[in-house]
Amino acid sequence: MCIFCKIVKGEIPSNPILENDDFLCFHDINPRAPIHLLIIPKTHVEKFQDTPAELMANMTLFIQEVAKKMGLDENGYRLITNNGDDGGQEVPHLHFHLLGGTKLSWPHFSPEATHKAL
Ligand code: AMP
Repeated sequence: MCIFCKIVKGEIPSNPILENDDFLCFHDINPRAPIHLLIIPKTHVEKFQDTPAELMANMTLFIQEVAKKMGLDENGYRLITNNGDDGGQEVPHLHFHLLGGTKLSWPHFSPEATHKAL
């Protein structure tokens, strides 16, 4: 069973922020920003392309609730989902990283590297 399913079942401890019947938000164990949370559906969905639109719509509302609860609405925040191998997804259970609490930098690539990536 995947690590995030184990967190949902309480088999692995987490530091939760908010949950409802369908979604869970908890602190990332390896934070990359002053606030770094993970938001997951409780049902196992591996990739963004497998995600039903209705689940995504409800997840949007849940993420908005988390951001409000964390007081991030005014200053803003970043949402990221790493998807698949090229996207750098390590845990094969759909999750959004919510990062905030500071002015975040944006990675810069050289024109050559950008051209290659495209
Ligand atoms: P990704 O590369 O998008 O799949 O990100 C997976 C994230 O899960 C990483 O930022 C990890 O630090 C985080 N992570 C892995 N295991 C745990 C855990 N047990 N509790 C909280 N966060 C975790």
